[in-house]
Amino acid sequence: MPPQRTLVSRQAARPPFFAGVDLGGTNIKVGIVDDQGETLAWLSQATETERGGEDGARRMGQMVHEATRQAGLAPGDIARVGLGSPGTMDIPAGMLLEPHNLGWFNFPIRDRVSHYAGLPVTFANDANAAAYGEYWVGTGREFKSMVLFTLGTGIGCGIIIGDLLVDGENSHGGECGHIIIDQRPNARICGCGQPGHLEAYASATAVLKRTEEALAAGRRSSLATRLAKGKDLTPLMIAEEAEAGDELSLEIVLDTAAYLGVGAVTLMHTIDPSGVVFGGAMTFGEHRTELGRRFLARIREEVQRRAFPVLAARTTIDYASLGGDAGYLGAAGVARLEHYRKQVK
Ligand SMILES: [Zn+2]
Repeated sequence: MPPQRTLVSRQAARPPFFAGVDLGGTNIKVGIVDDQGETLAWLSQATETERGGEDGARRMGQMVHEATRQAGLAPGDIARVGLGSPGTMDIPAGMLLEPHNLGWFNFPIRDRVSHYAGLPVTFANDANAAAYGEYWVGTGREFKSMVLFTLGTGIGCGIIIGDLLVDGENSHGGECGHIIIDQRPNARICGCGQPGHLEAYASATAVLKRTEEALAAGRRSSLATRLAKGKDLTPLMIAEEAEAGDELSLEIVLDTAAYLGVGAVTLMHTIDPSGVVFGGAMTFGEHRTELGRRFLARIREEVQRRAFPVLAARTTIDYASLGGDAGYLGAAGVARLEHYRKQVK
């Protein structure tokens, strides 16, 4: 997916410049970003995880060089690279540990990308980097602190307080997709293997599972007609049927929102952030569609019902605004943070 943002010209951009690398299981995106979060150039290529970590690091280095050239800059004009990656990881050591999306186990990714790019690299968890992107130049740009939930196959999460990414002691901080919302013995099993986590109820995977269960239990739905034609069940199909008036589809979407509202309140009662923001592939059209507006309204309704009154009144609950750009922008943003911190020292 190409960047949603308009590219800024070299003349209009403000130095120093940073390269943001968004490493995913499917694609690698690289953006050259200026001091104000404007993008000068952008590249994407397939990750091809089977080629291994060393080859991936080499190609990320090449992409940084190519994007720098496209931005009209020289290699020496880039102050630092930010790299956002799926985990698990050890951030201080710059290591990937067991990143199941990549399969690059026990790989010293930070130093290898730094070697190929010829630049210092700041390493971050991808969900935390995306949260920092939204905090720096997206929905959270007026916030002092925020939580971002990224809704997709799983639920990613990042917490930003001040200019601090909450990585935690063991690089496992901000894993709010795995907060426990159901402690009953028959709770749903999460993608991580543990029962009762938010992700087991409100990820795209969970939405499909809950829908399949309802259909198997005999719930009437226009989805059954489409599935009978050999189509695969997807969140998009559920959204389309919900918009067309199918009761079960709408119920599934709104129940998902209610679970997320419960998750949001847990974070509000933990850190009292300026805002809780929802992004990712499964946001039902966000503000652009009736269903997206109802989804957000249902999250807010649950927050109103369950949060402390002061927080219910004051905490912003909204959609993210950077789309697929949040990852590389946030990665560039964390590189920028480290650049300025090193200057102060
Ligand atoms: Zn989990």
